[in-house]
Amino acid sequence: MVPHTVFRAVIMGPPGSGKGTVSARITATFGLKHLSSGDLLRANIKAKTELGLLMKSCIDQGHLVPDGVMSRLILSDLRGLGRTSWLLDGFPRTVAQAEALDKLYSVDSVVNLDVPFQTIKQRLTSRWIHLASGRVYNIDFNPPKVAGLDDVTGEPLVQRDDDTPETVTLRLKAYQTKTEPVLEYYRSKGVLETFSGTETNKIWPHLRAFLDKKLLAPREGVA
Ligand code: AMP
Repeated sequence: MVPHTVFRAVIMGPPGSGKGTVSARITATFGLKHLSSGDLLRANIKAKTELGLLMKSCIDQGHLVPDGVMSRLILSDLRGLGRTSWLLDGFPRTVAQAEALDKLYSVDSVVNLDVPFQTIKQRLTSRWIHLASGRVYNIDFNPPKVAGLDDVTGEPLVQRDDDTPETVTLRLKAYQTKTEPVLEYYRSKGVLETFSGTETNKIWPHLRAFLDKKLLAPREGVA
């Protein structure tokens, strides 16, 4: 179902809460454009742009990219989308970013994935990848046949630079101190909807039902 009015949504949740998977389902089901700040930054790093090179160490250390840089990057992409329905993923991550977004657009819905930190830590730190192919393993539920080696090539597996236990802890801390206040910001505006659970497949039907309703309901001030 593609909304016939412009619908602007934000998905929030700690790193590893399943935002990427859920975003893909939302965009496939409801036809919103997906814009992920993490993907945008990683694309810059891969393309070795000046900004990507500058931001890489920040990201690898689990720190947030400065608000001004991040807001400029995302808001210029949003402008390029024109009057399109979109889903923002990974932005805003601070109240300053939320305020910058608010100056240009009003957000219709903020969906918040509330997944316990313990579940997330386990998920992220047990994720190993084969760099050349992008194959992803999880020591707990999708382990390689031989520990530490890719099933197909036998080459060593590595962890994402920011998936090590130390960096995951820092990323979760940044989430608590910088991003949780954003939830409060949207709660006070009456647009926050929280979905709690430990499994994406169990959260998804509730979220889908919520968006079904939301996208069918007439909204004020939109044509
Ligand atoms: P993600 O893939 O969303 O977990 O983002 C990976 C990393 O990119 C984060 O740990 C931050 O260093 C950086 N990043 C992504 N989005 C933002 C944002 N909105 N503000 C600041 N830093 C960000």
